[in-house]
Amino acid sequence: IKEMNSFRRVLLKLSGESLMGTKQYGIDTDRLRDYAQDIQSAVEMGIQVAIVIGGGNIFRGLSGAAQGFDRVQGDQMGMLATVINSLALSSALSARGVKNRVLTAIRMEPIGEFYAKRRAIDALEAGEVVILSGGTGNPFFTTDTGSSLRGIELEADVMLKGTRVDGIYTADPEKDPTATKFDRITYDEIYNRGLKVMDLTATTMCRENNLPIIVFDMDTPGNLLRVLRGESIGTYVGF
Ligand code: UDP
Repeated sequence: IKEMNSFRRVLLKLSGESLMGTKQYGIDTDRLRDYAQDIQSAVEMGIQVAIVIGGGNIFRGLSGAAQGFDRVQGDQMGMLATVINSLALSSALSARGVKNRVLTAIRMEPIGEFYAKRRAIDALEAGEVVILSGGTGNPFFTTDTGSSLRGIELEADVMLKGTRVDGIYTADPEKDPTATKFDRITYDEIYNRGLKVMDLTATTMCRENNLPIIVFDMDTPGNLLRVLRGESIGTYVGF
């Protein structure tokens, strides 16, 4: 297993929406436990794991603005939602004995320590899971962009985007039954085909800084390990 895997440090993006599991809102504790278990196995393989979680299960600034919320305050509510999810994951990891720490993009001690590259890397090198909460700390961004930013800053080998779909398709497979999956795709093809994989700010940052992305179905337990072992599931994005 060790030989097949060439990743030393990964940035794992988990969607807030997936945390809902079968619920309509909030956090499904079964889903949380499955995630924590997969992350624990990754750590046991010797991989350094940094995690960014979304907040869409609780609040999204853009949907808030559509309901009349101030966009900046709505985005701040969204960023706080990612902190809530991060604390939930931290707690689930700690319950399994997995050492971890929550860093926040916005100062809010003692909920988490203020993010700094050095602090994150020191913890990763000591074998701790580092949960990077609060997105980029700025409105008008998303946690996908937070993931690409942190992945690049922390010199991750890859950004693993865990979703509920098993990769990138020619069209939305939940709407179009003729959609086919890519095993591999270039950043440029994502633009040219207008594919909605992640927002373009995040895709562009990855492209400009040569951070490959693997989009895979994180909601099937064990898939994270399959990706880390080099099994070709999901879609690989590169040049
Ligand atoms: N957000 C933000 N800046 C960031 C990251 C997130 O303002 O750097 C806000 C934004 O309002 C977003 C919400 O937090 O809608 C939740 O994040 P996201 O939608 O990325 O979560 P996901 O869809 O992955 O659950």
